[in-house]
Amino acid sequence: MSKRDDPVLDELQWQSLAVRSGITRSPEGEHSEALFLTSSYVFDSAEHAAARFAGDDPGNVYSRYTNPTVRSFEERLAALEGAEACVATASGMAAILSSCMALLKAGDHVICSRDVFGTTRTLFAKYMANFGVEVTFVPLLPVDGWREAVRDNTRLLYLETPSNPLCEVADIQSMSAIAQSSGALLVVDNCFCSPALQQPLSFGADIVIHSATKYIDGQGRCVGGAVLGRQDLMGEVLGFLRSCGPTMSAFNAWVFLKGLETLSLRMRAHSASAMLLATWLQDQPNVEAVFYAGLETHPGHALAAKQQSAFGGVLSFRVRGGQAEAWKVIDATRLMSLTANLGDAKTTIVHPATTTHSRISPEERVDAGITDNLIRIAVGLEDVDDLKADLQRGLSSLN
Ligand SMILES: *Cc1c(COP(=O)(O)O)cnc(C)c1O
Repeated sequence: MSKRDDPVLDELQWQSLAVRSGITRSPEGEHSEALFLTSSYVFDSAEHAAARFAGDDPGNVYSRYTNPTVRSFEERLAALEGAEACVATASGMAAILSSCMALLKAGDHVICSRDVFGTTRTLFAKYMANFGVEVTFVPLLPVDGWREAVRDNTRLLYLETPSNPLCEVADIQSMSAIAQSSGALLVVDNCFCSPALQQPLSFGADIVIHSATKYIDGQGRCVGGAVLGRQDLMGEVLGFLRSCGPTMSAFNAWVFLKGLETLSLRMRAHSASAMLLATWLQDQPNVEAVFYAGLETHPGHALAAKQQSAFGGVLSFRVRGGQAEAWKVIDATRLMSLTANLGDAKTTIVHPATTTHSRISPEERVDAGITDNLIRIAVGLEDVDDLKADLQRGLSSLN
């Protein structure tokens, strides 16, 4: 019996599930979740081994596809996303790759949002294309662009909401309707919100992707990922893991398992600080525009308020001027880490046009709103007044 079926767990609220679900105690009776660092498992007899291998006895066989610590993480994350099943993977990219390899074949067509993580774009544009999967990239908004891109062989719609770095918000219900009417699966990368703020399956998404590397870890230590959805689909994804090996390490699963316990507390703190910083930035004379769905002036505000319980930790803004001015503000910071990573207790700052979005053509960048004066911040858990002071130094120097 899976822990998800436990009647007591089913009565618990989200935050209690974050702390209490997915626990399988060993005979030692440990209180905190145990870390099972073992590659394989022993059997009682030859007959027992045969039953395990045949799948008649549901225990562990080999940690490429069965490990108690990884399973605890999977069960806890599944409870938090409201998913039937979860498959943990070696990284966020491994989660996307495993889903594609398990659910697509040569000749299939994918529609992917233009506004996705850069490496996701490469995975589809280069590697999936190499294996005969056709891919069309469309802007995240409006929905009509997706409807028009649908073909007879469309099998997957792939998106992130809110988008990076402009925080555009897609209507998951409308996207799910398009997927259903075209016989395709809707896949949502929920990395920016995490299940603490948004549960895409409840709005009709078929599959949720996570880079656990970001907010689920929350302290920038481990790389990992996860795929969530219906049991039959996840069975296929697990089959790919068993045969091809992009498995999450037990150690990383243990770190992520503990990360889930504080996820909601952290996401609310990230969101509250991002809101304060976005509001402050709006009032700064050398700031031209601020992009954060928490602001009532943001076009995605109402939809984000419906789909999400808070607006997340990532925001971006345009400074008055061009690349030189943006770099000046970035180089004047002393506290924020200059890195493209996000989802960390430490605030990060980056210039998208010359880093995360440098591989796409200048025309496409302009089309996507990634101008040379744009700066992205992933707000961490420091005191907001210190973050303001850190930005103020560069902003004042632009006068
Ligand atoms: C980082 C990231 C990924 C990739 O995850 P890794 O764990 O780095 O492989 C995928 N999607 C989004 C939105 C990300 O931010």
